[in-house]
Amino acid sequence: MSLKTRFLLLTSVLIMCASLGAWLVFQQITSGIIEQWGRHLAEVQVRYDSARLLQPLEREIALARQMADSKVIQRWARNPNQPELHTQAIAELESFRGNFRDHSYFVGLLGTGNYYHNNAKNEFDGRWLRYQLKPDNPDDAWFYRLIEQNHDFHLNINPDAELGVTKLWIDVLIRDGSEVLGIVGTGLALDDFLQEIVDLNQPGITTLFVDQNGAIQLHRDPAKINYANIVKPEGQKILVDQLFDSEEDSAHVRYLMQQLKGSKQEGAQVISDFVTVDGKSNLAGIAYLPSIGWYEITLMDLNVLMPLSGFMPMILLFAAIVVLSLLIMALALQKQVLKPLNALERAMQQLQDGELTPAELPSANGELGRLNAHFVSMAEAVRYTTIDLEEKIRERTEALQRLARLDPLTGLINRRGMTELLNEVAAKADREHQHFGLIWLDVDKFKEINDLNGHAIGDQVLKYISQVLLTALRPYDHASRWGGDEFLVMLSPCTDMTLQRLGDRIRETIEQGAGDLQLQVTVSMGGYLAGPGDTVDTALQQADEALYAAKHAGRNRFEITHC
Ligand code: GH3
Ligand code: MG
Repeated sequence: MSLKTRFLLLTSVLIMCASLGAWLVFQQITSGIIEQWGRHLAEVQVRYDSARLLQPLEREIALARQMADSKVIQRWARNPNQPELHTQAIAELESFRGNFRDHSYFVGLLGTGNYYHNNAKNEFDGRWLRYQLKPDNPDDAWFYRLIEQNHDFHLNINPDAELGVTKLWIDVLIRDGSEVLGIVGTGLALDDFLQEIVDLNQPGITTLFVDQNGAIQLHRDPAKINYANIVKPEGQKILVDQLFDSEEDSAHVRYLMQQLKGSKQEGAQVISDFVTVDGKSNLAGIAYLPSIGWYEITLMDLNVLMPLSGFMPMILLFAAIVVLSLLIMALALQKQVLKPLNALERAMQQLQDGELTPAELPSANGELGRLNAHFVSMAEAVRYTTIDLEEKIRERTEALQRLARLDPLTGLINRRGMTELLNEVAAKADREHQHFGLIWLDVDKFKEINDLNGHAIGDQVLKYISQVLLTALRPYDHASRWGGDEFLVMLSPCTDMTLQRLGDRIRETIEQGAGDLQLQVTVSMGGYLAGPGDTVDTALQQADEALYAAKHAGRNRFEITHC
């Protein structure tokens, strides 16, 4: 796998891990923010809703209390059959009617069971007595139950069978001292009320009000309201518990409700916590409203109110940054690392293939720059070493070649060396119409010298002859040891006279004495003056024939073959 692929793979894995980590942190942070925001929103929402409910309700309750405290009404309630008190009381009730929000009132008197009512349209003017309450009539049970419970006031959601409407009733007991004489109050049309307070049509938010016992009193869904709370048997009540998916949540909410009721803290306190409603996690904000004895519960589905999809642009931006980073990294890797590395690899290959001056490397910084510098010095060193080696090999080869053409004993050129020279000189002579002379020289009875004096002395004789040849010849003549005790001398340029003179001088010098050796050494010599048209072989042959003639004529002679 190439470095690039491996690097990209590793980077991708790292980025994926980093993204996963970032996503987890992001989720943690956002859920933290959402929860914090949710709790704050719950508090604000609960306070706002409570205020909106309490404002009209408290006013209605205060009015109803004033009505129950009216001396005129109390006197009439005690003596309902006195026409004068009745007239005064009705006048009083009518004066209150205009102040109520619904412009309606009701009075139920315990003594007579009479139920009086008039509405906004003043529909029952003169017919204020609407019907008779009867303890055994289930529809009137609320009246007797309220009196039985003896609470100062009560809020009740109850259908009025006689009037055919469902209202939020505000019921206040008429007392005379400790004696309960009846109930006065007003009713608020539930539909309007629901619309104003709980049916906010805000997706994700459900507001409800429950009474002390958890029975639902106000809810945007009328089917979830526990109507006729006061008279309903316990098992049939619609309780707040039914909203939650688990009993733990119900128990927890109940516990929080208890906490709130028992709290001595000033002002409306709001507690929020998570509950599961219809399979979805909701933040429940709960407040206790002591003035009416109800709780407000606001359920907020935070996923609807602040969905994670809201953060999608951020996620997309993050993803784009990740992809862009990967791209920039790949490009940087390509430019900063892979390109210089590839160039370095190519240069190395060139060097390996014997190209001593590899292509120039692209500029690089840092480690790669240093690597390039090392490579350049290494290539330079290889180049110098190679050139040096080649030079040495050339020199050695030349030396070897020289040695191959030299006779090790005498230091003269050998037969091979002389043959090369002969060819050159013969060619030149032929070209330039010149002459060259050959003298073939053979030691006389050398075998004997060896036999009588030993091989080493024989060698000394050969060296001595070579010294004589070198001394006698002109600088541009050549002498060689042809082999054994035979020498060949080449004189170029040459004339008959030169040939004769030099040949004689050589023979005479040798004859005169072998230096320190104290030996009589003579040589026989055959000469030939070669000219244009002579080949090397014919020239050699002619000289050889002369030598043969010299030997034959008695040795220690110089014979010349003439064409
Ligand atoms: P001739 O006068 O007819 O030339 O008689 P010769 O004894 O010289 O006979 P020939 O030329 O055939 O003998 C050559 C001898 O040279 C034979 C060999 O033992 C001797 N020889 C050849 N090479 C060397 C050498 O390098 N050193 C010595 N010491 N002797 C050599
Ligand atoms: Mg000989």
